[in-house]
Amino acid sequence: MKVLVNMDRCEYHGQCVFAAPDLFDITDDGELEWVESPDPTRSEALKAAVGACPVQAITLQDG
Ligand code: SF4
Repeated sequence: MKVLVNMDRCEYHGQCVFAAPDLFDITDDGELEWVESPDPTRSEALKAAVGACPVQAITLQDG
């Protein structure tokens, strides 16, 4: 599974960080970082992050 974040949409609300802090992070410089190929066991947390994003910036790709 691959995690894509559309940075043209992202408004740095940080809800993804709250939903899955081991997968998403906002750095001290204010940049969003994320694990692009997380372990499949984290899929539930990922889905929570996708659902939490208020601008639907996060998408998941199989493979
Ligand atoms: S919740 Fe969405 S808008 Fe907010 S930081 Fe995460 S990806 Fe960006």
